[in-house]
Amino acid sequence: MKLICIGRNYTDHINELANEKPEAPVVFIKPDSAILPKEQDFYIPEFTQEVHYEVEVLVKIKKVGKHIHEKFAHTYYDEIGLGIDFTARDLQAQLKEKGLPWEKAKGFDGAAVIGNWQAKSDYTDVDDLNFSLLKNGQVVQNGTTSMMLWKIDELVSYVSQFFTLKKGDVIFTGTPAGVGKIQANDYLSGILEGNELFNLKIK
Ligand code: ZN
Repeated sequence: MKLICIGRNYTDHINELANEKPEAPVVFIKPDSAILPKEQDFYIPEFTQEVHYEVEVLVKIKKVGKHIHEKFAHTYYDEIGLGIDFTARDLQAQLKEKGLPWEKAKGFDGAAVIGNWQAKSDYTDVDDLNFSLLKNGQVVQNGTTSMMLWKIDELVSYVSQFFTLKKGDVIFTGTPAGVGKIQANDYLSGILEGNELFNLKIK
C-alpha cells in the first residue's frame, strides 16, 4: 500500500510557511515503511534537529480506481481517520532550496502516524469535520475540512489521474496552521469530532 500526501491544502498553513498558493494540489508519497506501528513511541531521528507535527485528516481507499470522476469519488472510501505527517523541517528546507525531492524529510521510518479508523457514515459531512492536535494537553492545531482548498472528493479524483488507487491506500489531506516542533517527552493526541483517534509519546 501507499501513502499519498497532499501539501498546501489550507491557506493559513501556506501563509505560515511563506509558500506560494499552488495551482494544483501538491502531491508526494511516503513509503509504507514510514508508518509508525500502533502503540509505539516516536523516536526523533538523528539526522534532524527539527521535526514538526502536521495533523491531517486521512482517507482510506476501499477499492481499485483510476481516473475517478469527482462525482463517484465518495464511493471509493468509507473510512475516515486522523494522523500526523511528521516532517524533518530543517532537512526539507535544505532539499526545497536545492529543488530536490522531499522524501528523506517526510518518508523516514515513523513519519506517518495513522490513528484509529472511523466509519464515514458516522459523520454527516466529510467536508465539515473539526479536528485538532494536542501537545501536552494544549491545543496546538485546530482545523476543519471545510477550510480545505481541495475537498476530499476532489483530491481522490485528482490523485487517481496519476496513481492507480488501491484498496488500503491512505490519503493524507494536508495540514492547517499551527505546525510546530516536537521535543523528547512531548505527548501528542489527535481529536476528530470529539473522538481521540491517536496518542503517542515522543522520545
Ligand atoms: Zn503534511
